[in-house]
This record gives sequence, C-alpha cells and structure tokens, in this order.
Amino acid sequence: MEEIQHYIGGKLVSGTSGRTADVYNPATGEVQAQVPLASSEELNQAIEIAKQAQPAWAAQNPQKRARVMMEFVRLLHRDMDKLAEALSREHGKTIPDAKGDVIRGLEVAEYCISAPQMLKGEFSEGVGPGIDMHSVKQPLGVVAGITPFNFPAMIPMWKFCPAIVCGNAFILKPSERDPSVPNMLAALMSEAGLPDGILNVVHGDKEAVDGLLDHEDIMAVGFVGSTPIAEYVYARGCANGKRVQCFGGAKNHMIIMPDADMDQTVDALVGAGYGAAGERCMAVSVAVPVGEDTANRLMEKLAPRVEALKIAPYTAGDDADFGPLVTKEARERVKGYVDAGVNEGADLVVDGRDFKMQGYEDGFFMGACLFDNVTKDMSIYKEEIFGPVLSVVRANTYEEGLDLAMSHEYGNGVAIFTRDGDAARDFASRINIGMVGVNVPIPVPLAYYTFGGWKRSGFGDLNQHGPDSFKFYTRTKTITSRWPSGIKEGAEFSIPTMG
Ligand code: NAD
Repeated sequence: MEEIQHYIGGKLVSGTSGRTADVYNPATGEVQAQVPLASSEELNQAIEIAKQAQPAWAAQNPQKRARVMMEFVRLLHRDMDKLAEALSREHGKTIPDAKGDVIRGLEVAEYCISAPQMLKGEFSEGVGPGIDMHSVKQPLGVVAGITPFNFPAMIPMWKFCPAIVCGNAFILKPSERDPSVPNMLAALMSEAGLPDGILNVVHGDKEAVDGLLDHEDIMAVGFVGSTPIAEYVYARGCANGKRVQCFGGAKNHMIIMPDADMDQTVDALVGAGYGAAGERCMAVSVAVPVGEDTANRLMEKLAPRVEALKIAPYTAGDDADFGPLVTKEARERVKGYVDAGVNEGADLVVDGRDFKMQGYEDGFFMGACLFDNVTKDMSIYKEEIFGPVLSVVRANTYEEGLDLAMSHEYGNGVAIFTRDGDAARDFASRINIGMVGVNVPIPVPLAYYTFGGWKRSGFGDLNQHGPDSFKFYTRTKTITSRWPSGIKEGAEFSIPTMG
C-alpha cells in the first residue's frame, strides 16, 4: 500500500501522528494509498520552517520570484500527462478534464509572472515642502490555503502561486481525498528553483485546519470547499484576527429564453450539468426554461442526450463524458437526493441510480439523472447536490426566472441563453450573482480577472486570482519622507494639513 507523505522544507516527510485516511481509486473502488493526517505538532513544525525561510524569499527581487513561476509553467507542461494520470486516478475525472484542471491552475501561474508590474507601489513627489510620499506592497509572512477535492491541481495553484510570488511562504492543506497532485506540484516548484520551506504541503483533516486557524504565525487563510465549512473557517479565522477569504458551495441556474438556439443550449447544458459528474462548483444544476413551449422543446432534445451520456473510467481515454463520483459516500448522498426528489413529487425523466459500470462494479459510478417540474420548495432545488443530477424548473416569464436565481441562497455562477441583447444586458446588470455567462454555460473568469461568488457562495472582500490576489497576499505600507533642506525649525503641535 502506497504511503503518501507530507512535503515540508523542500522534501517528502513521513507522517508521525499515527492517524491516516484511505485514498481510493474511484473507478475500481479500491483503497490505493494511505494519506497521513497531521497532528498539530507536525503542523507547527512546518509553520516554523516556513517562517524561517520566508524573509530571504521576500528579499529576493520580484523578477527573480517571477522567474520561478516561468520555470514552473514549463515543468507543468513537461509533466502534464503524469499529473493528469495521478489526478484522474484519485479523483475519477476523465483525462482531458484532468488536464483542464492543471491548465486552469497553470494559467494563474502564468498571470503571476506579472508580479514585478503588479507589486509596483505609488510615489508622489512634493506633497509638502520638501516632502515626498510613497507606498509599497509587502508580503504578509506565512499564509495558508485549505482546498477541496474537486480541483486538486487548479485550486491549490490559485492559492499558492500568487501568495508565493508576492513573497510569502505557504502552507497548503489539500483535500485528503486526492492528495498526490498537490505533492507533485510542490516538488515541481522546488525543481523550478523555489527555496526550501516556501511551499509546504501538510495533509490532514479538521485538526490541521483548526491548527492553521489558531496559529499566531499564520497571517492569512484562503479556503475553498462546502459552505458550512467555509462559514466555520471564516468565523474562526476572523475571530483570530487573520485575513480570510472563503469560497463555498453553489446552485448555478441557466435561464433559457424562448429565442435561444435550442441545439446550442442543449449542448451547453449537458456539458455544464454532467461534466466531471457534476462535481464542479460552476456546474449548472438548475435549468430554467422560460415559457411552456420553451420547456417542452428543451425536454424533447435534452432527455435523449442525457440518456446517451457516456460514463467510463478515466482509463477509457477520450471516449467518456464523465467518470465515477469521488467516494462511495458521495454517491450514496447524491442518490439520497434523487430519492428525495422523487418523494417530493418531481418528475424523474432519466434515472441513473442503478447504473453499473461493466467490469468496474465496485467503482463509485452513478448514471445521469434528469428531473422535470422541480419546484422551489424541494430539497433537490434548495441544496447543492454535487453529482450528475440536473433539475428543470419551469418559469412562466423572464422576471420569474430572474427572481428564482436571485432568491436562491447561493450566488456563485449563472447563465442566460438568448439571442436578445436587451434581455442579456438587463440580466447581467440586475442579477445578484458573482459570475455571469451570456450564452456561456460555465463562466469561469480567466486568470487575469477574479473568481468569486456572492451570497452564501463567498465570504470575505477579495476574490481569487487576478488583481485581487495581489491585494489579498500583500499589505500596503505608506512612507512619508522629508529631508533636512525641507525641514522648518521649531516643533509643530497641531496636526499637519495641506493648508
Ligand atoms: P469540504 O468542505 O468537505 O472540504 C474542503 C476542505 O475543508 C478540505 O481540505 C477538507 O479537509 C476540509 N474540511 C472538511 N471538513 C472539515 C471540518 N469539519 N473542519 C475543518 N476542515 C474541514 O469540500 P469538498 O467536498 O472537498 O469540496 C466540494 C465543495 O467545494 C462543494 O461544496 C463545492 O461547491 C465547493 N467548491 C467551491 C468552489 C468555489 O470557488 N466557490 C470551488 C470548488 C469547490
């Protein structure tokens, strides 16, 4: 049985807590490795190593720090196949999707090469007699990232790339479900020239998370995961005086207007609803056709497409639409929601609950499910399912569809499909959701914009990646200077003003 290790101080280190968790291959259902769950003592040692290493790294000029990112990007391309294989083996997603996971992280590493530009301060000459003023952006020190299972490459990179290029040292606490890729990323950062101790991967569970939230040397915490844990991390981290940003769960709606191109809409909907088995925070989980005729045309085209979705283990290569769910518990939870939907009176048009993958009967596979006539009060509408289940909620008017998305407690992503520019513009302007697609089903912003949901999908002031990440991982210091030739004789007792 493979023993996964922590990556601390530039090398792999065995866990000493005596506590471990099973890591599965979701396609076969087999336990393929044990991941150590760090004790607070192990975590504290890693934080101390990071603290010792950070000042020298911060003292390197930003261009040198950016060069590590350039080399890291090259190494990610070199090892793309290896990374994707390791990712799919623990997560279950298809190989092309796993490569997308790596690439969307890599794109943030590319963006971080702009650090010398992004970290420039401001300067004002002559703000008073002989007085100049300037501001600098300095790193925070040691910062931490706590990340979910569903993007084990992308989300760790969204966190550690900007943090590190800004001059911080980083402790990554990745998901215990798929811990191998984070270790591989850390080894590649070392190979790219990152000094030991600047990026550390400490595997663990609640004990490690609480240890990070309570440690006085952790200056900032970035979290991505489910909303209840996001709220917990936000509250505890803030109470301990840390800078915290937390990104949580989602229920993303797609509003389908009567004039939408139905073939394009259905293509977009099956990809966004069922890709990665629905285990994406930007998956579309609610389709809202506007008007009875739109709904009937949608269902006519959608149901056969959902029935025909190809489910396979990642080893099947490109010939699969999605793979298994991450764990048996995850699959049972999703099936429980489908049972609840049936009991609550929704029409289960496609039922994938009994799907069995031939040759992989112990894998965590589940077929695609499609519900019609879902209503606002049903649990399958209110809660995040995080599986291959799409709910159709019929709306009579555009305003009703808009109101539905606006009154949902989550506000991560949303899309409208239409040919009507006026409707699209009105929608994008009024909707209270952080990321909006117009004929784009999964509107994940690119690396040089920022990513973040509203309402109970995001907590904190700043988003992930883009310019916000440079703000989150630095603090501003403002310096006022006056030299002897500008100094008047005598003491001043009233507050200086610009007169
Ligand atoms: P999760 O909340 O179970 O776990 C996330 C992290 O928190 C993991 O590192 C885990 O070890 C840790 N954790 C779990 N339970 C904890 C506890 N009781 N105390 C302290 N730490 C704990 O989430 P997950 O199942 O790994 O990921 C799926 C969730 O993440 C979904 O809700 C999805 O929508 C969300 N997600 C959100 C975004 C976003 O940007 N908004 C992106 C990806 C995933």
